[in-house]
Amino acid sequence: MYSIYQAPFIKDMSQMTQNLWLKGWAESNGGNISQLLEEKEVSCYLDINKYLRTTPLNFDASEIAGKYFLVSGSGKHFRKVMAEPSDTLCIIKISDDGSSYHLLWGLENGGNPTSELASHLKCHIVRLQQDPAHRVILHTHATAVIAMTFIHDLDEAQFTKSLWKMITECLIVFPDGVSIVPWMVAGTNELGEASAEKMKDSRIVVWAHHGIMGAGTSLDDAFGLVEVVDKAARIYMQMAHFPGGIKQAITDEQLIELVKGFGVIPKKGILDLTLFP
Ligand SMILES: [Zn+2]
Repeated sequence: MYSIYQAPFIKDMSQMTQNLWLKGWAESNGGNISQLLEEKEVSCYLDINKYLRTTPLNFDASEIAGKYFLVSGSGKHFRKVMAEPSDTLCIIKISDDGSSYHLLWGLENGGNPTSELASHLKCHIVRLQQDPAHRVILHTHATAVIAMTFIHDLDEAQFTKSLWKMITECLIVFPDGVSIVPWMVAGTNELGEASAEKMKDSRIVVWAHHGIMGAGTSLDDAFGLVEVVDKAARIYMQMAHFPGGIKQAITDEQLIELVKGFGVIPKKGILDLTLFP
């Protein structure tokens, strides 16, 4: 059996959490991340029949029974993952009946998986139903997105359209738009339920005045998605109150040209495709 410190998924997660911290999106213990792993990946590095402990879940996770996840720890700092992966991360397996999870590795100085574990697992369930290649749920405190939730209308269609108009790439990268949940108490089942519901048709869920949740087929995919959304929000925040006003912008017609040019399917209810056939 190989050392788990050699595992590509540990190295990649360490690098990713470092990137999130360097972005300024993971201050203190902010943010959490989870990645679905294959049993054959995990079994190269761990005895998959040895559980350190078993903890009940407060919802039915039978749809992901038996699945393995690499998860960040509650209260742990992303800044320290690279130096201390075995304390800041953990590998869990959902029990065969979906009522609990087994801890296989990590949290060596104590603690629990992220307090948003319910949100993560519920979002994994929903995204796997939409896309079997889905792997990662990422929650981070993307600065410009949070700022935008203070000054922009929280209507999802309007918020999405504003972002699409900030950079040409946006509509191509996230044609499924962004969903928004209003401010809610962090770590609650309610926030998890609301986020998972939104993830049925969108890989990005903005948590007003808190952060963003992104889904992806890999760490890079989820990170890239959040990066593009935050870049667009940053441009919005820089130009929204420019004293000279907006002189020109990407028009609805130009967005529809992008739809046609790149063959993407935009989220319904945002663009009137009949206007520019
Ligand atoms: Zn948070």
